[in-house]
Amino acid sequence: MKFIADINLGKLAKWLRIFGYDTIYYRGAANRNFLREAQAENRVALTRKRKMNHCQFDGWLMIIYSDHVQQQLADVIDNFGLVLRQDRLFKLCIRCNEPLSEMRREEAKEIVPSYVYENHLLFKRCPKCKRVFWPGTHKDKANQFVRSHIQKGHL
Ligand SMILES: [Zn+2]
Repeated sequence: MKFIADINLGKLAKWLRIFGYDTIYYRGAANRNFLREAQAENRVALTRKRKMNHCQFDGWLMIIYSDHVQQQLADVIDNFGLVLRQDRLFKLCIRCNEPLSEMRREEAKEIVPSYVYENHLLFKRCPKCKRVFWPGTHKDKANQFVRSHIQKGHL
């Protein structure tokens, strides 16, 4: 399942990427072009715009009502029955939505803080923005989310 999020849902887009879901951040209002792009790429359109004119839209549209990103994510997860899996973390660049590529550990040494280098074996890089990621960057955030939602009974 792939998504496209409108300009008001940048944080939600990042979170979906953390969980491995390909999500385009559309830097514009949810208009006809937005829906066209969703349809062309078979993406679920996520928008905060409550009154969407989608009479000519055959794709999937979800209107996001909450102001809080954690709740927004929980709503998307519930709505589509998404399963959050550890092995899907650490696949996409949080910023660019690009699939991360493997890099040699020695290459990371020059780039990441030394305590990070010492404590991790696996590093990946975004081919587009060149940011370096290691499992902790995604996993800590993801686990935080999962924990807080188990406590609140959302998941
Ligand atoms: Zn990137």
